[in-house]
Amino acid sequence: MKDRVEALNRYCLDRSPEAIIAYVVDQFGGACTLASSLGAEDQVLTHMYCNGDVNPDIFMIDTGRLHQETYDVAQKSMDRYGFRYRVFFPQHEAVEAMVTQHGPNHFYKTVANRQDCCHVRKVAPLSRALTGYSVWMTGLRRAQSIERATMPYVEWDDRHHLIKVNPLLMWSKSDVWDYVRAQDVPVNALHNQGYPSIGCAPCTRAVLPGENDRSGRWWWEDAAKKECGLHLQSRESA
Ligand code: SF4
Repeated sequence: MKDRVEALNRYCLDRSPEAIIAYVVDQFGGACTLASSLGAEDQVLTHMYCNGDVNPDIFMIDTGRLHQETYDVAQKSMDRYGFRYRVFFPQHEAVEAMVTQHGPNHFYKTVANRQDCCHVRKVAPLSRALTGYSVWMTGLRRAQSIERATMPYVEWDDRHHLIKVNPLLMWSKSDVWDYVRAQDVPVNALHNQGYPSIGCAPCTRAVLPGENDRSGRWWWEDAAKKECGLHLQSRESA
């Protein structure tokens, strides 16, 4: 599997996201899934995937701390495109133990607490969501953050032992929003209230014009540590 990364990367160069999705699905069939955080990028990919020739396989992680607006766009997407998300929740024993010991807002106190919470509520469910799959697609773009600036289209996910594909890799924010408007893609209502990047409700806030899109996520932390762990891995790519 890992040996296919280099060829897949070559294929993706100068290809549209639609072509990349179609190729990956053609190559891997039902072993391919799309991770949706319900953000604008993932909504674009959901639209493209659902307008293809195959039954889309899309999952979402319900951390238990999402905004109502995020549930609204999930429902709207299911109604419009006629698919069902595979939904993954955190293990309730782990959440109960964490909140009982540290309290409901422990993630504001230390980076370690925040990382623990992201692990329990996001990273562990992600591992379950990816079990049995060969490829996962994400809406990551290079322009989103410093950490993502050198990502390839296709990389080997060493943590989960499968291929990760980023069809929107080279898209700008304008590309995303031009597509949303042109195709009337359903998006989270919070985007119009100053939230460019949306995660859990207590860890996301609106940003001012000109501020970095990720600055509203875990705003109390050092910018260099702003990843939830979903996309951290030992990166190996062609
Ligand atoms: S984003 Fe915040 S609430 Fe959500 S899992 Fe991470 S620390 Fe917990």
